Amino acid sequence: MAEDSVRGASQRPIKPSTARGADETLAELDEALAERDEALAERDETLAERDETLAELDETLAERDEALAELDETLAELDEALIHLRLPPLPVALPVSTTDAHTHIGSTTEYSQLSLEHILAAARSVNVTRLVEVGTDAGSSREAIAMADAHPEVVAAVAIHPNDAARLGAQLPAELAVLEQLVGSSPRVRGIGETGLDYFRTTDAAGQARQKEAFAAHIAWAKAHDLALVIHDRDAHADILDMLAAEGAPERVQMHCFSGDAAFARACLDRGFWLSFPGTVTFKPNEALREALDITPPDKLLVETDAPYLTPLPYRGKPNSSYLLPHTVRFIAERRGVDLAELCVQLATNASAVFGDWGDDEV
Ligand SMILES: [Zn+2]
Repeated sequence: MAEDSVRGASQRPIKPSTARGADETLAELDEALAERDEALAERDETLAERDETLAELDETLAERDEALAELDETLAELDEALIHLRLPPLPVALPVSTTDAHTHIGSTTEYSQLSLEHILAAARSVNVTRLVEVGTDAGSSREAIAMADAHPEVVAAVAIHPNDAARLGAQLPAELAVLEQLVGSSPRVRGIGETGLDYFRTTDAAGQARQKEAFAAHIAWAKAHDLALVIHDRDAHADILDMLAAEGAPERVQMHCFSGDAAFARACLDRGFWLSFPGTVTFKPNEALREALDITPPDKLLVETDAPYLTPLPYRGKPNSSYLLPHTVRFIAERRGVDLAELCVQLATNASAVFGDWGDDEV
């Protein structure tokens, strides 16, 4: 009885319970298998995704290689074009982007046969990625605006050059009226200039009087439109300062192609002006100019080509172009004992402080 009851207890209830146990185990196994299948499917999916990512990466690298190859080809073509045109070769690129604070692309094309696209590509290839294109009469000012409207690396300054103002004679007021219409014609007009006084080329009193008339008008436009004033000063330091004092200087004044000594630099800096140094700073006899450079604070320093003129060493006498700016920038970094990359950034920052944002993605 006890045995029966034990057997009974161990047979009847055990059988179904064993079956249930097996079913449960099988169900658990099925579940485990299903989970494993799911995990394997997920792994397959992950591997497929990884393969896709790798394929995409391969494609990106291939595209990059292609772009670099194209760039190499363009640069090789540029170098070849420069040799063909008997122009200075591309210098070693600057370590970071910087700005040519004063150039004349239109005249550079006339001097060197380089097209606008060549000039910009050559400059970009050596990390001169921003330029201020400067007009000298109504025609070149209109062209400067068109370049600036079409190219994010260019902003425009518009003016009648002092020597043109002297030459225009009785036509000067009419030409000034035309110019005035251009001043507010595009948000890419950021400067009024180059304007000022040139007693080196204009020596007669009547011509100098017309320069002063034009200069006064340009100062007024810069103030009315809150634009930078780009000053051309040749052998006229004292009169430039006197006229700016009499008319009232605008907020931002660039002494383009600075040509004074340390004393004149001090007078300009005391008035809050920016000093813009061209390739002439590299010329051996210009020690007085280098002394002016020495006392210029970092935030008041600009560097320019004034292309196609004033080509820096070692290419003095050859046609200048914005791609040659690195020669002057390297010279200045060495003279001031500063890091080249830091100087490039500082120069770009200063140019933006004077001329506003370029609206590109650089710096
Ligand atoms: Zn100029």
